[in-house]
Amino acid sequence: MFDKVLIANRGEIALRVIRACREMGIKSVAVHSTADADAMHVRMADESVCIGPAPSSQSYLNKAAIISACEITGAQAVHPGYGFLSENASFAQALEDHGITFIGPNAEHIRIMGDKITAKETAKALGIPVVPGSDGGVPDYETAQVVAAEIGYPVIIKATAGGGGRGMKVAKDAKELEIAFRTARSEAKAAFGNDEVYIEKYLQKPRHIEIQVFGDGKGKAVHLGERDCSLQRRHQKVFEEAPGPAITPKMRSEIGTICAEAVAKINYIGAGTIEFLYEDGKFYFIEMNTRLQVEHPVTEYIFGVDLVREQIRVASGMDLSFTQDELEINGHAIEVRINAEKLPSFSPCPGKVRVFHAPGGLGVRMDSALYGGYSIPPYYDSLIGKLIVHGRDRPEALSRLKRALGELIVDGVDTTVPLFNALLEEPDILSGDYNIHWLEKWLARQF
Ligand code: ADP
Repeated sequence: MFDKVLIANRGEIALRVIRACREMGIKSVAVHSTADADAMHVRMADESVCIGPAPSSQSYLNKAAIISACEITGAQAVHPGYGFLSENASFAQALEDHGITFIGPNAEHIRIMGDKITAKETAKALGIPVVPGSDGGVPDYETAQVVAAEIGYPVIIKATAGGGGRGMKVAKDAKELEIAFRTARSEAKAAFGNDEVYIEKYLQKPRHIEIQVFGDGKGKAVHLGERDCSLQRRHQKVFEEAPGPAITPKMRSEIGTICAEAVAKINYIGAGTIEFLYEDGKFYFIEMNTRLQVEHPVTEYIFGVDLVREQIRVASGMDLSFTQDELEINGHAIEVRINAEKLPSFSPCPGKVRVFHAPGGLGVRMDSALYGGYSIPPYYDSLIGKLIVHGRDRPEALSRLKRALGELIVDGVDTTVPLFNALLEEPDILSGDYNIHWLEKWLARQF
């Protein structure tokens, strides 16, 4: 086992990893930008190293500075958290070249899954059902016309290098195709420096269901069921739950087994999430994330396992601490993402937090790097905390969420808490009857 792990991230996820390290008796090293000198992850880690100025391109994305920080502190492994360098194949490779362990899959698997076309081809070859669409990239508008007519409208044009919901355009019919195709390409070029796009059938009312998988890198892998992350704004998740209200044990076992067998076949190591759209009883692969997800705590709650601990274990060469048969679902968990944002525009609202009080009690977990007197810097994303609740069943989890939201105090900045209070009054949310368009439609009606 490692003696010392460096965490190449900030905010709540850096704390999450430090906590796992501490429970495992591993020393932790925080890295930070000059804007984060007072951040909680710096205070909580055993050691810290400043790796550059505020913009993440010069600090949290600065590979050379992070590798130097490992060498200075003697850290043997790096946990990348999510975002930043967590799905950067060349970073994983550079660490390996320096004899430092990347706590995540190998560079090759990150690369395959980071390119959405290759990812889809690989998934298909491994027996995972995919969304009908173009065979690879679509080079020009003329080809797009032929492909879209074949698949049937509506279609969605997506960036090969896409992420974070950017570079996606829907065309309802042939008339809309040209503009959608050209804007998707130029957005992809601007956002990712790569204008390759592909086309998929646009599913009308699917749910976003993702399967958590875990591999030991030695040909064994398990699945830890699904999370329903259908409540999205601009393709970004805001509310996640497990198990999925629409998924039966039989469906879970079928799709979970397909996913676990697929990652076992490629000797995948560490945590991974295979994302699907789910409609009319069928699953359609959209992408795989080769990292820990923001919403991993709902899975941890219902299975009673520590996914970060497992990541560190398998990265050090140990086996998984559980088998598929030992994984049993217990109750229901929900996570809401608390952002420092002003409603109804959802514009970022950084600034000084005067008072912070986290909710507590049975079945309540608050993962947050806030503290009273802390100034949220304007340079990074607006997630300031995740409130996760667990109950014996879905109704209990919902009432616990409502109770916990009432206890939470974040004084000084606007947050998305009022959104969740309002959602918990909605019959569709209470019954679990929603799809990926529900939230946008609801928001449009509210404001
Ligand atoms: P990103 O990597 O940018 O997050 P994804 O491929 O994961 O992109 O898609 C993000 C979201 O976009 C999905 O959760 C879903 O809401 C929507 N989406 C993607 N593909 C389709 C599709 N074929 N039909 C309908 N909605 C889609």
